[in-house]
Amino acid sequence: MAAARQGGELQGRHALVTGAGRGIGAAIARRLLADGASVTLLGRNAGVLHETAAALRVELPEAVLAVETADIADAEAVSLAFAAASGRLGPVAVLVNNAGQARSAPFGKTDLALWQSMLEVNLTGTFLCAQAALPGMLAAGWGRIVNVASTAGLRGYGYVSAYCAAKHGVIGLTRALALEVAAKGVTVNAVCPGYTETDIVREAVANIVAKTGRSEAEARAELAAGNPQKRLVQPEEVADAVAWLCRPSAGAMTGQAIAVAGGEVMAG
Ligand code: NAP
Repeated sequence: MAAARQGGELQGRHALVTGAGRGIGAAIARRLLADGASVTLLGRNAGVLHETAAALRVELPEAVLAVETADIADAEAVSLAFAAASGRLGPVAVLVNNAGQARSAPFGKTDLALWQSMLEVNLTGTFLCAQAALPGMLAAGWGRIVNVASTAGLRGYGYVSAYCAAKHGVIGLTRALALEVAAKGVTVNAVCPGYTETDIVREAVANIVAKTGRSEAEARAELAAGNPQKRLVQPEEVADAVAWLCRPSAGAMTGQAIAVAGGEVMAG
């Protein structure tokens, strides 16, 4: 059983993680709590968020955590949720923009609704949450923003043009904002997972099985094949990279887009 670390590097800091009810976001929330932060878990589904929060309270009895519901693509909902979260646990010092969706379609079948929904949740949602959190960070002279992008923000993949465009946008936003706030105590970075064992991959496997008639094992092997380590990344491995970037000791790291993908993508 992990323990919330008294005197951990994030002790006394409020971290807000979007999409924290499951998958990579839940692993990030757990990891930041273990590093001593108080954490707000944000997502759309209150039931899932409360279930995850209850499990975390059992695992980390000293942890301070709260739940906020909002659709990150809805500007008003984001603004209300951040105000409520700050009222409860103090200004957000660490923001992890993790919530996202990956829908696939050939480019010819990518209609405007699919295009806009991918941009809204993955890119506009990241923008809205950063805008909501940044004033408090600037006032405090300290902050950490980590955007969970994707290897799809660093290279192209077929059949996910809208998702790829949105995640490339997230990395552009990360780099621009990092420069804008570089001298103000706030760092802005992106973590770029390869295929990671969560619902997103389970849905991709089901999609491959349905469309190609391959077995589930073949579909999983196909996704893992692009990773030089020939395996799926685990959510905890992404959470570790995020937590490192959130620490005070990572203050010199900013504007970076770090792949957590078994060597699939390497910086040029
Ligand atoms: P997941 O298990 O499907 O979880 C996605 C999370 O995002 C859920 O908690 C979901 O919560 C939340 N979410 C989705 N739309 C939202 C919205 N409009 N407003 C608020 N919350 C929303 O996916 P995951 O694999 O953990 O993905 C997390 C992040 O990693 C995403 O940004 C994804 O693009 C990125 N990523 C994943 C992989 C992978 O292979 N798994 C690879 C590269 C990058 P609710 O549904 O309850 O709202």
